[in-house]
Amino acid sequence: MHRSLSPAVVMTWQIAIDIDLCQGHGVCESEAPELFEVTRDRKVVALVAQPRDQQRRAAEQAVKYCPTRALKIIDQEVTP
Ligand code: SF4
Repeated sequence: MHRSLSPAVVMTWQIAIDIDLCQGHGVCESEAPELFEVTRDRKVVALVAQPRDQQRRAAEQAVKYCPTRALKIIDQEVTP
């Protein structure tokens, strides 16, 4: 009997920052201090390239409350 096996699909996610929209309010840093830092010139920087799943909730809060909508979560499927 032949069985076709579909490859496992792994879901990953990342945070995209539209730096042109960022006005340095710092809400993201307050909501997710492990993920974001606002620099002296009032622009956000991401502290980690690949956030952990345990940080997802904080990331969602940062996205939700960013007043300029500068943040976005991007979900991706990866086939190993
Ligand atoms: S909350 Fe939004 S506007 Fe404020 S620093 Fe973070 S990304 Fe920039």
